[in-house]
Amino acid sequence: MSGLVDGFGRVHRDLRISLTDKCSLRCTYCMPAEGVPWIPKQSVLTPDEIERVVRVAADEGVETVRLTGGEPLISPNLIEIVRRLAAIEGPNGQIEVAMTTNGIRLPEFIPGLEEAGLSRLNISIDTLDPDRFMELTRRDRLIDVLAGIESARRSSLRPLKLNAVVMRGINEDEVVDLVEFAIEHEAQMRFIEHMPLDIGHTWDRGEMVPREEILASLSEKFSLEPLPGRAGAPAELFSIDGGPYTVGVIASVTAPFCANCDRLRLTADGQLRNCLFAREELDLRTALRNDASDEGIRDIMRASVAAKRAGHGIGRPDFVQPERGMNAIGG
Ligand code: SAM
Ligand code: SF4
Repeated sequence: MSGLVDGFGRVHRDLRISLTDKCSLRCTYCMPAEGVPWIPKQSVLTPDEIERVVRVAADEGVETVRLTGGEPLISPNLIEIVRRLAAIEGPNGQIEVAMTTNGIRLPEFIPGLEEAGLSRLNISIDTLDPDRFMELTRRDRLIDVLAGIESARRSSLRPLKLNAVVMRGINEDEVVDLVEFAIEHEAQMRFIEHMPLDIGHTWDRGEMVPREEILASLSEKFSLEPLPGRAGAPAELFSIDGGPYTVGVIASVTAPFCANCDRLRLTADGQLRNCLFAREELDLRTALRNDASDEGIRDIMRASVAAKRAGHGIGRPDFVQPERGMNAIGG
């Protein structure tokens, strides 16, 4: 039985670790163009520290670790971290290591990641149009992302998932094209509702493209059947034209899945967060650097889980967006 059970009976089995807050893109929904308050280098957890946290988490029942950021491919220690984490055995077996990336420079990393023991990849691609990509990410790198997705298609890393945040007036007319692109690349396309997590605080609920609209656009082209067995997964899955391909919708705003959340997050500077939208963090880095025992690390994890709220509360009058942007929290 996991030690990471919160006051609502939710058992935590998934730890998301941000390796860096830095990134090769500047997606408008995540980061501002300039003036990002970067985490100081000396505050970023080392591979030893990350391994230590995951060993304790595995003993507490964590089964999956997802590496994210910022952009994990720009962390200088990525391959070493994957190798160390993939070797950890918990009471429920070997830790599964997955990664979410923007795909830039993925072709040169794929062999090393496969060899180090990475299991799965999610790659973000919001548009197939170079001008829109430039507008959305403030960088002219679509060609590099496409090369990254192609290298993932050729790899052993499965299932392969592609993520897109749907933005009003920017890429909402591309949902069908993105699904077809994903199928060509043996991947599952997943559409994410835009959440209030950008440092620039530009989110506007009225502007958000909700789940219902995403599904309506997809239904103009495909026959969608809801698939059972979602458990704690953020994406609601639908088969496309009878299968085998599927599409997912992550409706964090209009159909929150907080009641089944099994996730805990560690920021690049070693702060533990029990929710994407948490406004409190518990300081694991200081504990790690002050020679805390495994029990001390474990108690901080348990305290973070115990303090978890029932839901994120977007839409409630008292909702306040977290101070950190998505790049620093780890998506
Ligand atoms: N750089 C990597 C990437 O883009 O895949 C990993 C980190 S990124 C923060 C993780 C995921 O969060 C991406 O799929 C991204 O699209 C998503 N994301 C970032 N900001 C978001 C927001 N405001 N609302 C919804 N999803 C967001
Ligand atoms: Fe970078 Fe990912 Fe944020 Fe885009 S969503 S700016 S790729 S961290």
